Amino acid sequence: MSDLPPSVRRLADGLRRLPGIGARNAQRMAIAVLRAREGWPEELADAIRAARGNVRPCGRCGFFAEGDALCEICRDPKRDGAVLCVVETANDVLPIERAGVFRGRYHCLGGKLSPIHNVGPDDLAIGALLGRVRDEGPAEVVMALGTDVEGETTSLYIAQQLRSLSVRVTRPAMGLPMGGSLDVADALTLGRALQHRQDVGA
Ligand SMILES: [Zn+2]
Repeated sequence: MSDLPPSVRRLADGLRRLPGIGARNAQRMAIAVLRAREGWPEELADAIRAARGNVRPCGRCGFFAEGDALCEICRDPKRDGAVLCVVETANDVLPIERAGVFRGRYHCLGGKLSPIHNVGPDDLAIGALLGRVRDEGPAEVVMALGTDVEGETTSLYIAQQLRSLSVRVTRPAMGLPMGGSLDVADALTLGRALQHRQDVGA
């Protein structure tokens, strides 16, 4: 059976590592790259190199930032410093931004508490969160974690840690899919859930 030349197979194998790309699509993409008349594949290769070289977690909130600067959200003076939204990963900021109702700032934990996977409080950016609440003095911390057991445990743990800091700790109202991550909620549902918040542990 004949196959594509090794360099094209290598390209297809690389593309296949992208989420949602199967073997056949990877092959079609590789061939599209080969057949391109303009220089966009070279530009794409440059963009990949630049993004990987320049983008790192924001030193304050953990969202994606360029170079040594804080992320765009932390640098935006119009964001409301009175509300801090805690999410699992930088990816979770995007659906909340898309929902378009939250104007506060964020804090990415880098995961959630999970005894099974050996993830304890010191493995997450919880200490940094407590420091921010002390320094920035928000009136409210919104725990926008997944609604699975680990997300719940993490929310309750953090609410406990924040108890002495006289800050209101809330979570988005029910209506988020149970056991689901923020990613799967549609923007309208997520927006409504964020507008109607409930106290954690109340
Ligand atoms: Zn930031």
